[in-house]
Amino acid sequence: MPLLGAIADDFTGATDLASMLVKGGMRTVQTIGVPKPDESVDGYDAVVVSLKSRTAPAEWACAQSLAALAWLQGADCRQYFFKYCSTFDSTDLGNIGPVADALLTALGARFAIACPAFPANGRSVYQGHLFVGSVLLSESGMQNHPLTPMRDPNLVRVLSRQTDGGVGLVPYAAVAAGPEAIRAAMRTLGKAGRRYAIVDAVSDQHLLAIGEAIADHALITGGSGIAMGLPGNFRRAGLLPASPAVAARLPALAGHAAIIAGSCSPATLGQIEEAADLPRFAIDPLITPDAQRLAADALAWVEGKLGAVPVLIAASAPPERVQMVQASLGRERAGTLIETALATIAEGLVARGVRRLVLAGGETAGAVVAKLGVQRLTIGEEIAPGVPWTFAEGTGEKLLLALKSGNFGQPAFFHDAFAMLRKS
Ligand code: ADP
Repeated sequence: MPLLGAIADDFTGATDLASMLVKGGMRTVQTIGVPKPDESVDGYDAVVVSLKSRTAPAEWACAQSLAALAWLQGADCRQYFFKYCSTFDSTDLGNIGPVADALLTALGARFAIACPAFPANGRSVYQGHLFVGSVLLSESGMQNHPLTPMRDPNLVRVLSRQTDGGVGLVPYAAVAAGPEAIRAAMRTLGKAGRRYAIVDAVSDQHLLAIGEAIADHALITGGSGIAMGLPGNFRRAGLLPASPAVAARLPALAGHAAIIAGSCSPATLGQIEEAADLPRFAIDPLITPDAQRLAADALAWVEGKLGAVPVLIAASAPPERVQMVQASLGRERAGTLIETALATIAEGLVARGVRRLVLAGGETAGAVVAKLGVQRLTIGEEIAPGVPWTFAEGTGEKLLLALKSGNFGQPAFFHDAFAMLRKS
């Protein structure tokens, strides 16, 4: 029986969480969407159900999340986790607040933490304010995100706008004092009628202390960083072996290599620039506002270029260009059009023999894995914190996939990803 049942609001985020759990010694499987009723998860310590609910209408996101929870409850998990982005990607309409509310109610629980901190990836929370590296969230580039622009760095305020449950703060001083002080601060907030606590954390030590303090919580909400302390809880309870298992060794797959990028985050834009030597095709929805034509153009371009050197197909654009696209097509229509085009391109690439594929962007990856019929991912070694290679199985070809959340990874990420496969 799995110990932890997680629901992730996007695909790259799910992989990021799964990778964290694997590093902590939990055998973890990521499913794409809610598994079928009879799907077996025997032999796994954690199941991460990945949804594409981050930017969906709140009602749909809640219904999907509850369906995932019901499945995980059926598998008899001991604790549940709602995973969202370490940059708290959401709008005033949701979906972090509404989904967390729905899950708490379904579990009969009254209180949960909300902690997106992931210091190893430069996400820290101090006095309730989220920093990306050395700058506030609202100055990090996330203020220009095509779908979830984050213009307020104060997470107590951000989450308060998404829920009718009160939101409080477990401040740095309590977190630095350790698990007992964190528990005391949470008790005080609970007594004061708060439903959520944003929790400060600026180091891995803080994440471990918070992890210990929430060992008995029915639901945990946060980024993957906060999962760092959970394997330790299960180990202390005698539910996990003392020595961590290692990440699965993935089978080598012969076949062509490709990169598809739909993220417009500063990190992805930098990675594309760094990969200037790769053959590259840019998707421009202003010139061609038609998903099928965009896909056909890209697939025509690809002819004769596929091989061991990855081709790079990118819709990614700087903020000014994204604004022009959105002004012309509308935010949602632009996003959907590009996601459809990139998913169709991915399908065409696999039909042409691509077996090693890097996807940049959470929504982008979601659209692609859905189109490819991927049903589950086995998590392998990390290319960057939170971004492992995975072995994808489902209704189509078996593939090696790396699903990269837009703002993750080092500048040379694309090169490093394929270099790692050559070494293994
Ligand atoms: P991230 O992980 O950085 O959030 P996502 O893939 O989740 O990346 O989100 C990026 C969104 O921006 C997608 O919906 C994508 O289709 C959209 N997008 C990509 N390129 C452009 C562009 N040139 N103009 C407008 N929107 C774009």
